[in-house]
Amino acid sequence: MLFAAMRYEGSVYRPATEAGSLIVQASVGCAYNRCTFCGHYQGVRHRVRPMAEIVADLDEGLATFGEEVRSVFLGDGNGAALPTETLCEIGNAVRERFPKLERITVYGSPLYLRDKSKHEWRKIAAAGITCLHVGLETGDELILAALDKGFSIAEAVACCRRVAKAGLTVAVYLMIGVGGTRRSQQHAVASAELINRMCPDSVHLRTLIPAPGTETEQQLRRGELELLDAHQAVAETRTLVQGLEGPTALVSDHISNFVNVEGRIPEDKAMIIGVLDDALTWPLEVFRAPTRELIGKVL
Ligand code: SF4
Repeated sequence: MLFAAMRYEGSVYRPATEAGSLIVQASVGCAYNRCTFCGHYQGVRHRVRPMAEIVADLDEGLATFGEEVRSVFLGDGNGAALPTETLCEIGNAVRERFPKLERITVYGSPLYLRDKSKHEWRKIAAAGITCLHVGLETGDELILAALDKGFSIAEAVACCRRVAKAGLTVAVYLMIGVGGTRRSQQHAVASAELINRMCPDSVHLRTLIPAPGTETEQQLRRGELELLDAHQAVAETRTLVQGLEGPTALVSDHISNFVNVEGRIPEDKAMIIGVLDDALTWPLEVFRAPTRELIGKVL
């Protein structure tokens, strides 16, 4: 990750694929900040940073890394919530400074994707913001409502399709274990159906590790949520992959996962299922520590 001497506020989160990107906080916190499992911005008041501060950070990035910057991630939690004109202004300011730039990316919940028209997304893409990281977590309507994500499955499908038609790359995030043991298989089957309806460019898997202070952690303590062990998580992942039709890329690239698998769907589906079947024969001790032991640790 390219950290220049910028005025970062609070903890800075970015997708795993942005490890090599220059991180610039276009906003601080999350405009929504209600998802029951998310502890990233607890107590952080959301605000859009003034353009002068964003430009000063870009200049700092230019002074530090010169023309080598090829990717910029605009934090924090929901960059897509910024007004279209603001996003375009930021995109243009980034492109003016970094001639080798290949992409600018932001997080975007369907909550905010749905507010912008295809025409607006085309303008945003023309300004250089060409990739959205979209946290959907599940395709199961019941689990989605319990997570208080604030959008429906139908809205997620419609707005992700609209964004893709406008020319942006859509990277979707699903969360293994988010339905607990009780809805594990429903979560996997419905999530595969959701992905098949929207065919995003890539699907990224992370595994639920309840964050301290969240409603999800409280559900765990009250016995309303049961964590998956490694075999249950792998079995859930297997059902998900089995249901995927593609075309898409599966990227399981997070330290929270018990097993990471990667490949193109449908081309590599049999290979991925073979890896997961193999993992189902391993003893539980060879996987990462049980999730309950990781709660509260920095991953
Ligand atoms: S939209 Fe994203 S950043 Fe905001 S609360 Fe939900 S998961 Fe967290």
